[in-house]
Amino acid sequence: MGMSLSLKEICDTLDRVGIRPTHQRIEIMKYLAEHRVHPTAEMIYTELKEAIPTFSKTTVYNTLKLLEEKGVVSALATDEDQVRYEANLTPHGHFKCVRCSALFDLDLPAMASAAQEIEGNLVLEYQVLAKGICRQCRDGRD
Ligand SMILES: [Zn+2]
Ligand SMILES: [Zn+2]
Repeated sequence: MGMSLSLKEICDTLDRVGIRPTHQRIEIMKYLAEHRVHPTAEMIYTELKEAIPTFSKTTVYNTLKLLEEKGVVSALATDEDQVRYEANLTPHGHFKCVRCSALFDLDLPAMASAAQEIEGNLVLEYQVLAKGICRQCRDGRD
């Protein structure tokens, strides 16, 4: 599942926003493009550390912060203490399962995603986060 981005596409994206495409930054971008489960920084670190033992937690946190600042990665604070990351920048909403913590993409109503202005206020960002119990947890299959 997921969109795979070629190495060239990743380097072009980083170049475009003035980020030097180091090996570790590329690996993080690739991971986010290929794993569309909205991982936390911790999850990314744990996964990448297996393949690249020199990976440090600080690098992961700093890289995610930089990628988010430059707008090539999006961060979603689902809870006070949890931030989830993704490389899918198309406007969409989210559903978070309170049991298994899975975070799924939701299609936004066309009107909501197209709105530039709501009641005279200029919209720069539009977030929809629904929380509940996912289908799998409801079925007791987890
Ligand atoms: Zn669940
Ligand atoms: Zn998403």
